[in-house]
Order: sequence, then structure tokens, then C-alpha cells
Amino acid sequence: MSEANEANDCLFCKIIAGEIPSAKVYEDETTYAFKDINPKAKVHVLVVPKRHYANVAELAEKDPAELAHIAEVAASIARDAYNGSFRLVFNTGLDAGQTVFHVHAHVLTGETLDE
Ligand code: IMP
Repeated sequence: MSEANEANDCLFCKIIAGEIPSAKVYEDETTYAFKDINPKAKVHVLVVPKRHYANVAELAEKDPAELAHIAEVAASIARDAYNGSFRLVFNTGLDAGQTVFHVHAHVLTGETLDE
């Protein structure tokens, strides 16, 4: 998938809009969270802003309050699903393994995580 993927051809925009099904974990006015289809931990949730930003650098520049909110949502998910311990990952750019160019926080929790 191209890093220049536009919002109107964005998988996660379609998930947020309900055009593609997802296992919803949390939703509010600005933010949506759903289970990763290919979990890398016992609990693996993706937290995304409803507005389209390509990556965490763009989100931090254009909407830092939403970035902070995503961290709060991640912490809340980890408290509800486990004991509050979690790993938060933003793959950013092709070389880092980003495959979907709508910023998403991977929340990994639910068990003791490998280093
Ligand atoms: P990235 O590699 O950091 O961009 O993460 C993209 C994530 O999206 C991967 O962990 C995929 O498993 C996940 N993913 C891709 N398509 C879907 C879907 O339709 N539903 C839920 N998760 C998805």
C-alpha cells in the first residue's frame, strides 16, 4: 500500500464509518478503538483518531490534544482488560512496518509481554 494513501481510500476511515466491520472496544466523539485482526498479544487493540492523519508525527503536529487522549484511552483499555500495564506502539513509515497510513496506536496488554 502506498504511503500517500488518501483519506478517501483509507481502510481505517472505512472502519470508523462502519463501512467495514470491526470489533469495537471503545468510541467517543473523536476516537475509535477496535481489536487488531492479527493480534500480537492476548489483548491487542488499535486506537485511532476519527480524523485522518497519516502518522503519529502528523497527529502530534496538528492535534496534540488528540494524541494525549489516545494515550488516556489506551491506559483505560489496559485497566479494563488487565492490570493497567500495557505497551503503546506507533509504527511510523514503511521502514518501521507501518502498513495502514491512518495513525493508530497499538495497545498490547492482557499478559506479560516479551521484551
Ligand atoms: P501497522 O503495521 O502498524 O500499520 O498496523 C496495522 C495493523 O492493522 C496490523 O496490526 C493489522 O493486523 C491491522 N489490521 C489490518 N486490517 C485490519 C482490519 O480490517 N481490522 C482490524 N485490524 C486490521
